[in-house]
This record gives sequence, C-alpha cells and structure tokens, in this order.
Amino acid sequence: MKSYKKIKNKIKNLRPDFTFKKVEDIPINFLIDNHIKLIMFDMDNTLVNYKYAHTDKLKEWIKKAKEQNIKLYILTNCKNEEKVKKVSKKLGIKYIHHASKPRRKGFEDIIKEENVEKKYVLMIGDQIFTDVFGGNNVGVNTVLVEPIDSKEKVVSKVKRPFEKLLKKFFFKERKAN
Ligand SMILES: [Mg+2]
Repeated sequence: MKSYKKIKNKIKNLRPDFTFKKVEDIPINFLIDNHIKLIMFDMDNTLVNYKYAHTDKLKEWIKKAKEQNIKLYILTNCKNEEKVKKVSKKLGIKYIHHASKPRRKGFEDIIKEENVEKKYVLMIGDQIFTDVFGGNNVGVNTVLVEPIDSKEKVVSKVKRPFEKLLKKFFFKERKAN
C-alpha cells in the first residue's frame, strides 16, 4: 500500500503546473501574479536551439523579468561548460551545468544560494522526466514548454516515446482548458 502511494506521488510529479509554447509566451504578469521571485531554466531546447542560438524576443523577455527583480538561473544537464558559459554570458544569467536533473542537488543549491521560498520559485523546461519531475519533486512550481527544435535527436526519439505521449496529453489538456 505504501509503495503504491509512493508510485502515485511520483506519477503526480510528472505533471507540469503550467504549459506554454515557449518561454517568451509566458506573460510577465503571469510571473507577477504568481509572486515568482526566482526562475530556473533548462538550457537546451528551452532557451536555445541546437546551435546554441536564442531569439531576440527571449532576450527582451529576460530583460523584462529582471526589471521585476526576478532572479534567473540556468540549471542544465549539459556537460560542456564552455557552451553553457557562452549562453550564460549572452543572456546574462548564472548557471549550474552538468546538474544530473532530476537529481535534487542542483535545484536545492540554487534555491539555497538565492534564498527564495520554494513557493515563489519556478522551473521552466522542455522535458518531463528531468525538468518537470525534478522541479515538482523538490516542491517548486513547474512550466513545461515545447522544445525549440521539433527535430529531436535520434537518441532521444528512441529514449522518450513515453515522454512524447505524456506531452501530447498535457499540451492537449491545456488547449481544452
Ligand atoms: Mg531541454
């Protein structure tokens, strides 16, 4: 019985609190209304495409979020620090790389460093099993966005058929609401 409850809770943690098509689509007022003081971003396919490029609109959005005194942090599983550093510099956002999400450590290190209550923290990412599950598991708010590049690498296509199914369901659910 106990383990059933545990599994049920884990499944619950796969569900994002909110879904948006992309980061730039999240209204700044949505952040204000939800009292968000710290945002943790996934990097690959959330902030930048496979060429590590971002849009001008994203840069604009980041500027507006900063004007609201919202703290921003990149939390990425990318192991290549040089690449992460470049994105971090271009966007003016601090980072933790090689984070092994959904492991709690990276999430908790950032929350501790920035000293913000979890209910005012938002995790934004394009992957359910790393970004959404990890964020929900540590008790912060979560946003699932659609990956910037729809052409996923062959590896992840094979690795994530279940994730695709869940995403279809969550994004459909958003449209119905
Ligand atoms: Mg990603």
